[in-house]
This record gives sequence, C-alpha cells and structure tokens, in this order.
Amino acid sequence: MDGKAMGFLQKEAGKAVTDCFATGLTPENLINCAVVQIQFYQAMQDSLMAAQPPAEPLACVVGCDACCHRKVACSIPEAIGIAAWLSEKPDSEQQRVRAASRALHDATAGLDDVARIRSGQPCPLLVEGNCSVYEIRPLSCRALYSYSRPACEAVYREHRFDGTIPHYDLMLEAHGQMLLGYGRALEKLGLDGGLVELASALAIILDEPDSVTRYLAGERPFEAAKLGRQ
Ligand code: SF4
Repeated sequence: MDGKAMGFLQKEAGKAVTDCFATGLTPENLINCAVVQIQFYQAMQDSLMAAQPPAEPLACVVGCDACCHRKVACSIPEAIGIAAWLSEKPDSEQQRVRAASRALHDATAGLDDVARIRSGQPCPLLVEGNCSVYEIRPLSCRALYSYSRPACEAVYREHRFDGTIPHYDLMLEAHGQMLLGYGRALEKLGLDGGLVELASALAIILDEPDSVTRYLAGERPFEAAKLGRQ
C-alpha cells in the first residue's frame, strides 16, 4: 500500500469516528464508536485481503492463544466498548474480569514489551484458551496475522527473542494508519485519542464507573493505562 492509500485510509477512519459523534459526546455514541471502529476495520481488511492477499497461508487458528500473552494496545473507545459488552454478562464474569484486569495491571504496569511477554501473564479476557470477547476484541488482536505458529510459540510461550515472527505486514500497516486516524479525530473532538493497554484501561473503567463520563467531559482518567507511560 503506497503513502497515498495509507493517507486515504487514515482520513476515512477519522471521518468514521467523527460521524459517530454527530449528535453529541454521549455514552451511547461512544459505545457505538467502538462498534463502528470494528466495522470500518473489517471492511478495510476484507478489501485489502482481496486486493493483496497474504503471501502464504495464515497460521492463526482457533485454539491458538499464544499472542494473548502480550501487551494489548487499543483506543480508549475500544476499551469502553468492551466494558459495555461485558456489562451484559453475568456479575460473576464481570467481577472475574475486573479482578484479573486489576491484578494484571498491578503486576505488569511499567514493563516493556519483552518483559511483559516474559511475565507469562495471559490477557484477562482469555478463558480456557478462547477470547471471551471475540466479537468485540481489539483491532490490534484482529490485525496480528502470523505466517508461522512455531515463531509465535517461540516468542510468546518459550520467551525466545532471537528470531522474528513473520506477519501479514499489510494488515499491521493499515491498522496503524487507522489508529492514527481514529486518534486524531478523537483529539479534534476534545477527547483523549491516545492508546492504552487493554487490561489497565478495563481495570480503570470497571473500578471507577465515572471514568467514562469524565472521559467524555474532556478529562484524562486513563493516564495510568497509557502505553509508554505505564
Ligand atoms: S482481547 Fe481476546 S484476542 Fe485479544 S489478547 Fe485478549 S483474549 Fe486474546
């Protein structure tokens, strides 16, 4: 994908987010924004995969949860959308995620990417090897297509960092441009457009219910979850 196409993608992604708030900065529009981000991503992925298919068969299969043992980046609306989705689940599951997210934040905040993987801690949303929020999982999880399961296992399970994981790079590049577009659009609306670590953001949302209202008021309640600042 050339620079022009990447710029177009970034601009369209930003427009999709801006349109979500046409009727105001409301909790409903914020949750809808998380859904729209996913819909925009899926449409982009389908079109890119058709235009420039993966060079090799993708190694990602149901039952492989290797990459669910890393730092998970997401936008703040994505984290809020996941929390809203969880609110429809039984209390016991909400409490499990709340406690696991807080424990993970306390154990891993401040670790760099390699140290986070070395900690061996799974994402709090991983249940018996499956993503418990699969329908609304973050874009960074969707975009992480691998060509080699052994390479993923070496990094995420054996903690060997002497090789690289061959990824379907086009999707990672496109995902990065979309996140830039989303983030800039949120900032223009007066909202925090930075990226957060999913578990840390969930810990804040589930422990401090007024964090969503404060976010919409232009405050920055997710600083402790910000990537690069933990
Ligand atoms: S959100 Fe789901 S797919 Fe992403 S790391 Fe967590 S369990 Fe894995």
